Amino acid sequence: MIILKSRQEIATMRRAGRIVAEVLQELRRAAVPGVTTEALDRLAEAGIRARAGQTAFKGYRGFPSTLCASVNEQVVHGIPGDRVLKAGDIIGLDLGARVDGYFADAAITVPVGQVHERAQRLMAITEQALNAGIAQLQVGHRLSDVSSAIQHLVEAKGYSVVRQFVGHGIGAQIHEDPPVPNFGPAHWGPRLKAGMVLAIEPMVNIGAPEVEILEDGWTVVTKDGSLSAHFEHTVAITEQGPQILTMVDGH
Ligand code: MG
Repeated sequence: MIILKSRQEIATMRRAGRIVAEVLQELRRAAVPGVTTEALDRLAEAGIRARAGQTAFKGYRGFPSTLCASVNEQVVHGIPGDRVLKAGDIIGLDLGARVDGYFADAAITVPVGQVHERAQRLMAITEQALNAGIAQLQVGHRLSDVSSAIQHLVEAKGYSVVRQFVGHGIGAQIHEDPPVPNFGPAHWGPRLKAGMVLAIEPMVNIGAPEVEILEDGWTVVTKDGSLSAHFEHTVAITEQGPQILTMVDGH
């Protein structure tokens, strides 16, 4: 069942979303050569608390950290630790926060120092795929129009989308119905309505779409070791079109 949110609930989620967006911008600036992913996690937790939010991921199904930090061939759900970032890495930063009982969830992938042109292109295309998906969040469209738009854009650029992990509804729970795949034919699934709030999150690989999970039980990596990128926004569907909730004011 897809839970529709009131204006009031969406306003609360926007407050959570602003916290996520602001802290992600701090993390973007902090992700420089020589920094550990653990240090980024501490910064993420401090940033959320300083803004009177609560962390969303820590303790969720046993996940140990505030931030998911996924480097290079890591797709999502990387656990922060003593890994030191070096120039040329790319890092996916996935963060959730809760305010007054409501969640927001977003992710960016950023370069560490100077990175190869092919990594730049992967990040740019993945962000474009996110925006193509968001553009489909119109009242009366169907859910799989989002999935199809993302897959189409990614594959036209010669990359692949991960199948095993998908976007999701979000609200009083971090993960609600419906699942939002990043692949599949258009014109299927539920019709989109005002008040639906969805986390759209394409995961894009330079190589094949297959992924596997490391022995830590969390870290998802590409099976062929190719680079992967991840971008995510929490978006409310309104009669006026999609409204991104995970944004800094004025942007
Ligand atoms: Mg998510």
